[in-house]
Parts: sequence; structure tokens; C-alpha cells
Amino acid sequence: MADCVFCKILAGEIPSDKLYEDETILAFRDIQPQAPVHFLVIPKTHIAGASEITEQNSQTVAHIFEVIPRLAAQEGLTDYRIVTNNGEQAGQTVHHLHFHVLGGRTGGALY
Ligand code: AMP
Ligand code: ZN
Repeated sequence: MADCVFCKILAGEIPSDKLYEDETILAFRDIQPQAPVHFLVIPKTHIAGASEITEQNSQTVAHIFEVIPRLAAQEGLTDYRIVTNNGEQAGQTVHHLHFHVLGGRTGGALY
């Protein structure tokens, strides 16, 4: 996708602070963290958002959810929130499926 910021990160056209990468997914720190630990996990294929998840691509989504606990543990998190915004009215600003992983704040605060 030509003007997708996350596709540009995947293509190496925009730098990112990578936490993890394999054949199908990439994890990197959010540029504007909303919590002490805030990273994003994305599929390497351009999926516009959660409403575009299908039987054909859900394996990658399942894989993301297998990797998130490992990355959270690496970041020292036991408690964390996983968020995805679908559609602009829900706060989606980048139209490439991504899961926010947020944690590191004590006291039960919502992120
Ligand atoms: P959303 O509002 O759910 O679409 O989330 C998009 C997220 O991407 C926001 O939290 C942004 O801070 C983050 N973001 C945008 N551009 C970059 C970038 N170049 N590197 C890292 N995170 C980014
Ligand atoms: Zn994209």
C-alpha cells in the first residue's frame, strides 16, 4: 500500500524501534507511547483493520496472539492490555491492522 505508514516501516522506508520480526509479523514500539510499555504488532500483509480479518488471513492474527505474551514477558509485563481500533470513529488512524500492547502502569489505570 503506497501511502500506508506501516507498509513503509515494513519496506524499511521509515525507521522503527523493532522488538520482534519473523516471516509474517513485525512488532515495534509506538512512536507516541500511551503507557510505560507500548508496542504495536502488525501483519506483514496489508490488512486494513479488524473488519478485514478473514478465514484466509486469520492464521497470521492467531500468530500475533501467540507472540504477544512472549514479547510482553520480555518487556517485563505480567499485566497488559491488547487493543485494536477498527475504523476512524473508533480512533483508528493507521489503516493497517495493528494490535496495541500497553502495560507497565500500576494502580489499575485504563490506558
Ligand atoms: P491507531 O490510532 O489505533 O490507528 O494507532 C496508530 C498508532 O500508530 C498510534 O498509537 C501512533 O502513535 C502509532 N504510530 C504512527 N506512526 C508511527 C511510526 N512511524 N512508528 C511507530 N508508531 C507509529
Ligand atoms: Zn499497510
